Amino acid sequence: MFEPNTVAARRFLKRTAIQGGLEAVSLLSKAGIMSRARGKGAIFTLHHVRPAKDKAFDPVAHLTITPEFLDASITRLKAAGHVPVALEDLPDFLSQPDQPGPAMVFTLDDGYRDNDLHARPVFEKHGVPYTVFIAGGFVDRTHSIWWETAEQLISQIDEFTFDFGKGELTLPTLSLKQKYAAFSRLNAALGCADQAPLISQLDAQARAAGICPTGIVDREVMNEGELRQLAATPLVQLGAHTISHSNLAHLPAEMMRAEISLSTERVAQITGKTPRTFAYPYGDRCAAEAREYQAARELGFDLAVTTNPGILQTSSLQNQFSLPRISLNGYYQKGRYVGALASGIPFALSGSAQG
Ligand SMILES: [Zn+2]
Repeated sequence: MFEPNTVAARRFLKRTAIQGGLEAVSLLSKAGIMSRARGKGAIFTLHHVRPAKDKAFDPVAHLTITPEFLDASITRLKAAGHVPVALEDLPDFLSQPDQPGPAMVFTLDDGYRDNDLHARPVFEKHGVPYTVFIAGGFVDRTHSIWWETAEQLISQIDEFTFDFGKGELTLPTLSLKQKYAAFSRLNAALGCADQAPLISQLDAQARAAGICPTGIVDREVMNEGELRQLAATPLVQLGAHTISHSNLAHLPAEMMRAEISLSTERVAQITGKTPRTFAYPYGDRCAAEAREYQAARELGFDLAVTTNPGILQTSSLQNQFSLPRISLNGYYQKGRYVGALASGIPFALSGSAQG
């Protein structure tokens, strides 16, 4: 059993609440009372799309779904009357007086290579447009992906010595439970902070343990050539997602704006056109608020997306720089949950965002 008040316990309870909500709402949807709840549709957030791997230590399992689940999700949503809409076309869609059905909008964050290998064929099979959000520092291998570094490091060490902000602390990481606890501690430290000092500390530790943090990025994320090829295929648009994938709300204003505008230029260099859409890294209220929404507006995007859960409404047109998204989440890969997710109801029931 877990102790109360630990991050892991809170996450577990939150997940259980969402899962309970999904079960409840998938029953409601059978009773046919869902159509009003769907509003004008939903924007879905995906990260990795790849075949399931049986990993003992898998602290970011929620960031991976299988191609089969994506396929089943699209099939179900289409059957329920959802209409595929490109994110870039969403403002036009929402301003139509009569939509043919609620929108289903697909977005994939961070530019993982598996998006091209495993997600693209599914989107192409269904003729569904999608937007991939690119972080320039991942493309150019100048910045690491802290959660991938941490997963690899913690999986192979027996204790983890780290300064989370109040002096060095040594956590045991021998058992699986201890590894999850150490990862949660790191996640909590990074969740609402200026991340750069913590990430350079993590990267230095990883290198000392023989792990190359940017080597992981090279293995997982598409490079410029691959992105150029992907951008030339039908159905895809590339959007901007900063350079360093920092928590923008914790950066000085000038740096925050530079992260956004430089990433716009980087995507434009790759595709030959200025991206119209932006995704705030992490995207919750700890990572993006009014100041960041305003910056995205002033820096010329048509719209920007958060990870605050919610469905689309006509009023979303008034909040075009803080659009909600719903995570197609590795913890909830059951076809019958997709309609429930698209209603947004489970999040209202759990009173909480997704992790
Ligand atoms: Zn991201």
